Amino acid sequence: MSDAGVRLAGVAARLRAACARAGRPEDAAALVAVSKFHGADAVLPALRTGHLRFAENRVQEAQTKWPALRERYPHVELHLIGSLQSNKAADAVRVFDVVQSVDRPKVATALARAMDREGRRPRCYVQVNTGAEGQKGGIAVGEVAAFVKECRETLDLPVAGLMCIPPAAGDPAPHFRLLRSLAADTGLPGLSMGMSGDFETAVAEGSTLVRVGSAVFGARPAGPAGAAPATELP
Ligand SMILES: *Cc1c(COP(=O)(O)O)cnc(C)c1O
Repeated sequence: MSDAGVRLAGVAARLRAACARAGRPEDAAALVAVSKFHGADAVLPALRTGHLRFAENRVQEAQTKWPALRERYPHVELHLIGSLQSNKAADAVRVFDVVQSVDRPKVATALARAMDREGRRPRCYVQVNTGAEGQKGGIAVGEVAAFVKECRETLDLPVAGLMCIPPAAGDPAPHFRLLRSLAADTGLPGLSMGMSGDFETAVAEGSTLVRVGSAVFGARPAGPAGAAPATELP
């Protein structure tokens, strides 16, 4: 098996063990392999192991990488985990099965319109800025309840849960706990939290979906696969 295949199996085993330690079923948290910046050649070994759940952080990179891979692996479930520009909502609805980065009202509205037009309804996660970081996207903690209500009731978006990216420094556990309590308050079952460095902590705090990149694919190349110029980065 390839390196990525071996590492993927190792992460999956750690994830099952973390679920068991938390007294949860072994499959309580699903693994999303984050393939951003890696080309199709790097993704194929993971697909060959039978893994089907992947994530990208840019619409354009997903559009160049995934259609050909999907022809060979039609049951892939592709997640968007990066900030979405509202003018790319229709493209996102066409290429992704799950949008984890619903992080502002304009994006929610654009997604709802695009879903009506495209006749596809990717499941959505509301991204919460648990650390109140100025440079980071996401709904402020105090606005989550109203925003989720608007997404579900006014826009009829298929909201599956909440997502967070804790601040890079410091203990992520309080952020995971906060997200869990917000999800409980809003009656949402899905909790997308946990990355390569902290997914076991996230599982202990109730994660149902972990987003793991470098622990599966190794260090990331410097920019998107298919080389969008750096000036396009958000
Ligand atoms: C890149 C990324 C990940 C994966 O990060 P790793 O530390 O490589 O596992 C997870 N979530 C989001 C939102 C990301 O942008």
